[in-house]
Amino acid sequence: MEYSPKKLLDVLNRNNFKFKKRYGQNFIIDENIIDAIIKKSNLEYDSLIIEIGPGSGALTKKLAPNAKNVLCYEIDYTLKSILDATLYQHNNVKIIYDDFLKRDVLSDIKNYTYKKLYVVANLPYYITTPIIVKIIEDNLDVDKIIVMVQKEVGDRFRAKPGTKEYNSLTIFVNYFFDVKKILDVSRNVFIPKPNVDSIVVQFTKKDDLITLKNKDFFFKLVQDSFSQKRKNIKNNLKKYDLEKIGKVLNKYGFDLSTRAEQLSLEVFVDIANSLVEG
Ligand code: SAM
Repeated sequence: MEYSPKKLLDVLNRNNFKFKKRYGQNFIIDENIIDAIIKKSNLEYDSLIIEIGPGSGALTKKLAPNAKNVLCYEIDYTLKSILDATLYQHNNVKIIYDDFLKRDVLSDIKNYTYKKLYVVANLPYYITTPIIVKIIEDNLDVDKIIVMVQKEVGDRFRAKPGTKEYNSLTIFVNYFFDVKKILDVSRNVFIPKPNVDSIVVQFTKKDDLITLKNKDFFFKLVQDSFSQKRKNIKNNLKKYDLEKIGKVLNKYGFDLSTRAEQLSLEVFVDIANSLVEG
């Protein structure tokens, strides 16, 4: 299938396809954007790519020649005839028509062999964060995640301490990945046109994770630190050992009146480790 807006619309119309807002369906109509994503992703061929939400297959079709296998999850079964037509030449693509969030992905991929595991997708924006959290919590061991997301959400993933975008999600994600923006994307390259701009963000797995004595405790502490945006560490972490926390903060030139958004991942790790015995 060609990528001109008219051709895509023709195909969608011929198949009586109706866009579903509830599934975050905004399809890319600019081939240059897809080519730029592929180029900047630097994908190794001996890989399995997971794509969440292939839609009409515009991105999928270009992923297929760049990887040994592509496994897609599409919630909307009415896209099947379109996807079959778009992808008939690519027998290394498999599509599972189901809700990605409900899948046992580890079990879905256990029969594939590959050197690298990637997630590449133009995500359904209404579930961006649950998707990223699922990839991490399911221990998928992905080498890279390259995803198109709403600009504001992408800015949170890659935010630096001291900025208003920096929050507990930033710290959670940056514990596991180096995050960077690889592309700005205008709202004009989609049909229907969304009312937000987008960016493509790349998450690269960190080889050496900082040692945490207790991962769950760490993430709970970070969440609690940000629980009330305007309050400082002393107020948000009342139920923890404030004396110990104060000592760690002093090491970095902070004190209990500091707000969570000032503190780097490393400071949070140090605080959390100081509160866990052993
Ligand atoms: N990849 C296509 C493109 O770039 O043109 C479509 C991207 S569109 C933003 C998001 C896609 O995700 C839609 O096809 C939608 O049906 C699908 N989707 C939405 N929720 C989903 C879910 N929970 N699991 C799997 N796919 C989902």
